[in-house]
Amino acid sequence: MILNDFSLHGKVAVVTGCNTGLGKSMAVGLAQAGCDIVAINRSEPTETAKEVTAAGRRFLSLKADLGKQDQLASLLERAVGEMGQIDILVNNAGIIRRDEALDFSEQDWDDVMNVNIKTLFFLSQLVARQFVKQGHGGKIINIASLLSFQGGVRVPSYTASKSAVMGLTRELANEWAKHGINVNALAPGYITTNNTEQLRDDPTRNKDILNRIPAGRWGAPEDLMGPVVFLASNASDYVNGYTLAVDGGWLAR
Ligand code: NAP
Repeated sequence: MILNDFSLHGKVAVVTGCNTGLGKSMAVGLAQAGCDIVAINRSEPTETAKEVTAAGRRFLSLKADLGKQDQLASLLERAVGEMGQIDILVNNAGIIRRDEALDFSEQDWDDVMNVNIKTLFFLSQLVARQFVKQGHGGKIINIASLLSFQGGVRVPSYTASKSAVMGLTRELANEWAKHGINVNALAPGYITTNNTEQLRDDPTRNKDILNRIPAGRWGAPEDLMGPVVFLASNASDYVNGYTLAVDGGWLAR
């Protein structure tokens, strides 16, 4: 039966940056689909832990600053040691810095590129090596953005990093499909999280954004639950290297 293909029972997902926002919703969605969760955060994911365990799933919380790559291998070792295996990776942690391109600092460039693309690549590499070792494939879901497709303004490092996420998603999908590893991405539209607080607080920007969204509303973090379960499950086994927009129609406009 087709619905069985969406089940994640018996699987383990690593989700980065899931103490809040989209990461929290996706971790809870994956848990509701049957999956145990390894959370990698710099802040304690108290609420997420509560909701994942309430869904009857195991929750392992690992602390790390994902702006650096030196701890990634030991994090993965702990995850496999405690949970026995890894089947899914959701590269969600991400940051944004806003300033005019003429004034943009090297710090704001490096900080964003480190979390949004460098850590995403090296964590994916470690998890893919684990998938190859386990011998039955796996799923990697990267969190891209509308700025993987569009230019944006006052966010040069964010646009560069998220455009790289879409390109790298394709590249890794090409290299790893032969191992049964699916690499895909989700590109959220305008969703109500900390990341977009500044935009929602600016009445003009808020109105302009709403007027352009065919669905007529900001997205909610819960809007990512179905798409992430789909890409994490066997229902998407023949979907490789694709970036799926979850944007209320923004890109279709
Ligand atoms: P958010 O609420 O700010 O969540 C970002 C997550 O990343 C938080 O858990 C944050 O931890 C974590 N993180 C950031 N830097 C980290 C670091 N150095 N080490 C460890 N964790 C770190 O924003 P969000 O909107 O849910 O963002 C999630 C993803 O979706 C990001 O990749 C973002 O670019 C992407 N996205 C969001 C939207 C949107 O409209 N909201 C649209 C397109 C794409 P702390 O809580 O400790 O900071």
